[in-house]
Amino acid sequence: MTQAKAPRASPGRPLPVKLAVIIASLVVAGLAVVGAVTTVVLRVKLVADLDRQLEQTLSSLIAGNQVGAAMSGPSDYVLMVFGQDGEPLTTAFGEGHDPDKRPALERLTEEETPGQGAEPFTVASTAAGGQWRCLTASARGPFQVRLVVLALPLDSINDTTRQVALLVVWLALAVAVVATASGYAMVRRSLRPLRHVETAAAQIARGDLTTRMPPAQEGTEVGHLTDSLNAMLTQIEAAFASQSASEARMRTFISDASHELRTPLAAIRGYAELYRIGGLEQPEALAGAMKRIEDEAARMGAMVGDLSTLTRLAELQTLELAPVDLLTLAADAVADAQALDPGRTVTLLAPREALPPIAANEAAVRRVLTNLVSNAIKHTPPATPIEVAIAHWQDVGAVIEVRDHGPGIPPAKRDRVFDRFFRLDDSRSRDLGGSGLGLAIVTGLVGAHGGEAEVVETPGGGATFRITLPG
Ligand code: ADP
Repeated sequence: MTQAKAPRASPGRPLPVKLAVIIASLVVAGLAVVGAVTTVVLRVKLVADLDRQLEQTLSSLIAGNQVGAAMSGPSDYVLMVFGQDGEPLTTAFGEGHDPDKRPALERLTEEETPGQGAEPFTVASTAAGGQWRCLTASARGPFQVRLVVLALPLDSINDTTRQVALLVVWLALAVAVVATASGYAMVRRSLRPLRHVETAAAQIARGDLTTRMPPAQEGTEVGHLTDSLNAMLTQIEAAFASQSASEARMRTFISDASHELRTPLAAIRGYAELYRIGGLEQPEALAGAMKRIEDEAARMGAMVGDLSTLTRLAELQTLELAPVDLLTLAADAVADAQALDPGRTVTLLAPREALPPIAANEAAVRRVLTNLVSNAIKHTPPATPIEVAIAHWQDVGAVIEVRDHGPGIPPAKRDRVFDRFFRLDDSRSRDLGGSGLGLAIVTGLVGAHGGEAEVVETPGGGATFRITLPG
């Protein structure tokens, strides 16, 4: 199978170059429009002045009946007269005028005149490249003359317009060069912080999440960008740290759990081997070994049960809550403890007035009470009294205390007793059949209610486990 190739982006031009090209194009386009409009307006204005000059001169010539005597003295005017048939009759020039330079009009009748003689018009010159502006008038009466044409050269207007256009082109080029160069320099300078961001981003991409974007000027776009990127990086770094912490916790949990299971398994295997090599031939020895195997298996079963409870708790999103009467649950826990250890005095302490029901998960609260009461029985000398107290504290919620009068828990270890597999005395707790998970389950269940679990000293000595549940 052939693998589809990702399209390769063609190498683009850097942003400063692109922006400089855009600036240059805009400046050139803008100046071209301004230049073109200026040149056209200038030419129109100059031609209009020339036309006015032609009109005034021609009308005074006709009015003064001086057509024949025109063109005395130095002037640029050319006066041409055409007969009725359109054939040229005379051509008069100003003094010193080159007779070869005149409008290229071989013949002209009134009908042939552009605009029928009402408007001035432009004709080519007999000299190469030249142009003339002409105005016609009919002369009647005693004259046999039919059509008079007065003309002025357009050459100087054309020259002026050409020079202005050239000047505009040079000016546009100069402005474009200056604007492009300064635009390029400015864009490069303002993009410098972005290059720093780019370098930092490359470092982060190599896996260094502690890198931060260099500070940029506040209030600028790059400043906002670096602030947002740094905030995002802090969050990503925290998420990574918490993920690796939770992975580390999980690894510790798994290794602790396998270590805990290894001990009863080793004991069971030991008894099996002893039996195989004939070390349990006496019926009492065999019965004792069987009892130990049964105990170890029961302990493993309890531990596996606790482990699965903890796993379920970790995956639990929400706990189903319903109104729970705390007094009933506490009374049941006290009755169970009494049944479990009839030699103990287990007392229920409840306020005289009825407690309001709390929103809780009944099974979870029962489990919490069972774990705490059985701990109080397991970890205190026989016949030591135990109290289960319930109350409702303003602004706190329901409070359950399981108080004992045993050895208690040293202040330095009070935080750690809620950790998984933590035991004050490892071998003793194991002998008592504890998995080391009972209090971890208590904190998990209480935490799922949004409550808290803590251990304090019982007045006079002993441990008091206090649970608060909101509501
Ligand atoms: P375990 O199965 O060992 O009881 P827990 O998580 O319930 O596990 O308790 C953790 C440890 O805290 C126990 O091993 C014990 O050392 C200590 N502990 C718990 N409850 C009491 C108590 N009421 N008095 C003294 N120590 C206690």
